Amino acid sequence: MTMVDDPKAQAAEVISRLKSEYSEAGIVLGFSNPWELLVAVILSAQCTDKKVNEVTTKLFKKYRTVEDYAGADLAELEVAVRPTGFYHNKARHILESAQQILADFGGEVPATMAELLTLPGVARKTANIVLGNAYPEAFASDPDAGIAVDTHVNRLSQRLGLVESDDSNKIETELMQIVPRDDWFRLTYLLIEHGRAVCTGQRPRCGDCLLQDICPSAFTLGPSAGRDKAGADAKTGGTAKSAGRGHEAPRSTFKPQTQVKSWARSPHGKRGRRGG
Ligand code: SF4
Repeated sequence: MTMVDDPKAQAAEVISRLKSEYSEAGIVLGFSNPWELLVAVILSAQCTDKKVNEVTTKLFKKYRTVEDYAGADLAELEVAVRPTGFYHNKARHILESAQQILADFGGEVPATMAELLTLPGVARKTANIVLGNAYPEAFASDPDAGIAVDTHVNRLSQRLGLVESDDSNKIETELMQIVPRDDWFRLTYLLIEHGRAVCTGQRPRCGDCLLQDICPSAFTLGPSAGRDKAGADAKTGGTAKSAGRGHEAPRSTFKPQTQVKSWARSPHGKRGRRGG
């Protein structure tokens, strides 16, 4: 049985279950201040968080301040960020953002969505991530804030029947209408965790999924398509918990390189790791 006839109830049930399963869901990019967070999020486009953390481990030692980036040689910066892909654009956006932050915002990453969106290469996903993680109190009250929609949030929102659109901007708007504001920030990381652990792009493991009984897409996608739900459960021992635990072991071996948020408050609850 699903609750998709009532999207708000569906969203509430999904969030409740995912909170139980992924109690420590949060950003995994390493950073020690808002500027480094912005750099890491820009680099994370079309790149794994693990690769970004490898690159920023060196990058954040070579370039320490916003001024360092603003005055960087573009070709050198490109070489430094090349492993993350799309390095011409990423390096240029980082350099130009640093210059604009010095010129327009006194050297501080701005703490409003409207201002963040003026920076080169910063669209709503990046701005929501930066605002939510660097300035949580501002995020909570900013009238322009929303929900960061990455590839996992996009995919799972559709599969779970939470939204009708496949366009990230429209998905954000639809989610904001059915998810309580207090859960906007957390929702992104809950769906990312579940998207990585169980509901992957090509091979969703519906038999192991804690949402299978409320998911309208269960057993309709990938290799699980057409499989009998009860049979899948019997074969896999398919419970919600088994899915989550299966992901936690490899995840725990990964250590972001930076002690994060020494400067920041931590209003989003307990996190076992730091660092989108
Ligand atoms: S039941 Fe399958 S499609 Fe639905 S959320 Fe779980 S893994 Fe994804």
